[in-house]
Amino acid sequence: MIDSHCHLDLACFDNDIEQVIQRALDNDVHQFIIPGIEPEHWVKSVRLAAQFPQCYYTLGYHPFFYPRTLNAASIEPMITTLAAAIDQAITQRGFVGVGEIGIDRTLSTDLPLQIDLFDAQLHVAKTYRTPVIIHHRKSHDQIIGRLKATQFDQGGIIHAFSGNAEIARQYIDLGFCLGVGGTITYPRGHKTLNAIQHVGIEHCVLETDSPDMPMLGRQGQRNEPAYIRDVLDILDGALPDSTVNEIELITSNNVRRIFTQLQ
Ligand SMILES: [Zn+2]
Repeated sequence: MIDSHCHLDLACFDNDIEQVIQRALDNDVHQFIIPGIEPEHWVKSVRLAAQFPQCYYTLGYHPFFYPRTLNAASIEPMITTLAAAIDQAITQRGFVGVGEIGIDRTLSTDLPLQIDLFDAQLHVAKTYRTPVIIHHRKSHDQIIGRLKATQFDQGGIIHAFSGNAEIARQYIDLGFCLGVGGTITYPRGHKTLNAIQHVGIEHCVLETDSPDMPMLGRQGQRNEPAYIRDVLDILDGALPDSTVNEIELITSNNVRRIFTQLQ
């Protein structure tokens, strides 16, 4: 299996990253995608990919981590920094795309500013012909609108997809897979699970969002890639026409189809 979204670059993994990776391997999770959040963390992702052949990463600015001083004039230098980091990354192993980018309407950052930075990062991904990992919160309309307006055609993953089948279908038509994680282990995740049943596992990838989004029964604990099996078990129960092995294979193949650098 592949954990298509785990923030192994965060400080809470510093002390035991080797054990975290070993526990994942022991649970048949063999590869990890570390989404980028901001330049100081990008450096750690590059280092992890050099240290562990199972680790791959994307580079980008995550809406949670925008500088407090973010304004319209910040965008150009931020994009220059991102492009320089990608130029460097493509000479080494591990870089697979742009992300985690997005629009989050629960944050206080101005929506027009978020949209400009999202568009600018989509443009970077288009220039380098890489897929993107997209973060959404109360923002499906804006994200779908921007993907269409910018004619983004590199595809990628809608991280932590939540929503109905109609929204899922719109993302799929735009060339995206849906990231499926801990949400569906909770009763409140039934709407999202219904959407997945509707569109089919062939449009999904597995993810944990470690260290966040703990699975049901593990609340209050640090989440880690080894627990992705909890998601797999729920999907197995919800998709009677597919075996566990098929779900593993289909979702892993989807990640490899999106991130073609994965071996
Ligand atoms: Zn994330």
